[in-house]
Amino acid sequence: MRSLKTTAIKLSYISSKRSYCHQFINPNFDSKATKSGGGNNTNDLLTNLGYIYQLPTAGLLHYLPLGLRTVKKIGDIIRKNLNNSIDANEFPVNEVSLSSISPTSLWVKTGRYPNDEVFTLNKNGDKNAKFLLVPTCEEEITAMMKPYLKSYKNLPQIVYQISRKYRYEKRPRGGILRGREFLMKDAYSFHVNERDALKCFDMMKSKYDLIFQAFKIPYVSAWADSGEIGGDRSMEYHYLHEIGEDKLMICDECGIASNIEKCQSTPVGKGQFKDPVEVTWCLNKEGDTLIGIYYPGTHELDPRRVVEAYGGEDLDLDTINMPNEKVLLKYQRENEDIMLASMVRLMDCRLHPRSNLPDFPLSKYSKFQFVTIDEVDLCFSKVGDVCEHCGTGHLRMEKSIEVGHIFYLGDKYSKPLDLKYVSKDNAQEVVKMGCYGIGLSRVLGSIAELTKDDIGLRWPSTIAPYTVSFVTPPNIHDDTSLLREIEHLKNNNSTNTSDDWLFDLRKDISLGKKINTSHAAGIPICCIIGRKSWPYIELEIRGKRYSNTWEKAYEMEGNGSKFDWVSKGEKASTNSKNRTFEKHLVHKDDLNSVLAILLKDL
Ligand SMILES: [Zn+2]
Repeated sequence: MRSLKTTAIKLSYISSKRSYCHQFINPNFDSKATKSGGGNNTNDLLTNLGYIYQLPTAGLLHYLPLGLRTVKKIGDIIRKNLNNSIDANEFPVNEVSLSSISPTSLWVKTGRYPNDEVFTLNKNGDKNAKFLLVPTCEEEITAMMKPYLKSYKNLPQIVYQISRKYRYEKRPRGGILRGREFLMKDAYSFHVNERDALKCFDMMKSKYDLIFQAFKIPYVSAWADSGEIGGDRSMEYHYLHEIGEDKLMICDECGIASNIEKCQSTPVGKGQFKDPVEVTWCLNKEGDTLIGIYYPGTHELDPRRVVEAYGGEDLDLDTINMPNEKVLLKYQRENEDIMLASMVRLMDCRLHPRSNLPDFPLSKYSKFQFVTIDEVDLCFSKVGDVCEHCGTGHLRMEKSIEVGHIFYLGDKYSKPLDLKYVSKDNAQEVVKMGCYGIGLSRVLGSIAELTKDDIGLRWPSTIAPYTVSFVTPPNIHDDTSLLREIEHLKNNNSTNTSDDWLFDLRKDISLGKKINTSHAAGIPICCIIGRKSWPYIELEIRGKRYSNTWEKAYEMEGNGSKFDWVSKGEKASTNSKNRTFEKHLVHKDDLNSVLAILLKDL
């Protein structure tokens, strides 16, 4: 009687633990969703396995326990690396949490509102929205820091937050990669001058490398155009994958990568292209100069290079995208005496001197008003172009998913929002800023996409919702002494990692289903506990190896020399047909040590 009572208490203790398998982990998930591969199926897989709940409204989702644990792990890695100093002279970094609601008036000042990519909040009957849901927080953070950065003595400062952001995607691709609500880490830095801000940019670059290395998945950092956010220096962090919407040009020699929009390269086949030559007409801002841009029909015109070749901001970029006829009409309408108006021809350097140019469209013009700028590069880099950085390698193009971006902002936000400090010389100076983002939901979605296989997900151990699962046959509940042993195993884990252990002791689910569920959910190691093998535990490794340090440890300490641990190599899976898993047999007393050795590589 007495022992029964004790068992009842112990049992309820096990089932009350947080890491006891919960009902969101679905043993009847539909594995077909993974088998067809690609597309949005990663979202279906995450949904089937109980990571996320997709709302009927496109682009919105809820995080379920497994998804939340994963995203928290990603956040923990980011926090740890931002908070820890690399060296003693480092700028201090502090975490904050800003409201998700921001007044539109602030965004009007920086020219980012009205904006049809933000969600606005309207009071009933009020046509003019006074608030919006933040897509990023440059405006708010600049306003918030104002009272704290009065003097040069208050600088530098770096603050960051991890929070939900909102963007009105017209056609959300749905799910986790491009939703209307997403989780983002955004950091902002404040400095007395550009030199300090760029030093901070480099410091954040080092921290980003540590963060992305901790995620274990190979990534590419690429020089990038600042685009919307603005500034002078910016770098993006990408995962290469065919479903990505970004395009990177990567050198096959030096490996330097750039976003295609920023890529600098030396064109191949200079002066050789004859046919067909395209021409795009545009105007200067005054409207009194007609500019003809001649380039190979096989290439795409790069507006940034055109502006550079023309030599200034005077070019009216809007007219580049207008149909040629419209531009020519506008030119003739705005210039009464065409004979006095000037014309510029920009000739791409790839063109052959005797290539067939399209006919000049105007009958009336003066040859004396004609200026030609030739030998200039006017087109986007193409596969095969010579890398500008090493001068020898050739460029290849890869599709990618952008997961992080760091910028030097200069005074883009501090100037319109009047963020000033008093300098050493008692002068009012504008604060220089930087901003640094990582999309946590994007990282989760990308890594799921990159690592999934026909069984399911396959997380690196650093971000897996649980690093280890323990599964038992359903009849374990008849074996009170073994149950006690399992409880002992859990409570005696001195390394404090047991919060990372998932115990699947469910009565109504077969051992095979439990193993399959653990593997499909992507938990790196599955420990199988049964009466027959006890006190030995069978380990099945689901995680991919990112290194092989365990082999040396096994050679030195395995096979009974220090640990009662036998590596059994690749064996047919206990339950998956046509699948082999790496298996190990470990004595319960050595389990903690062996798990620690194995997890290092996974
Ligand atoms: Zn190169």
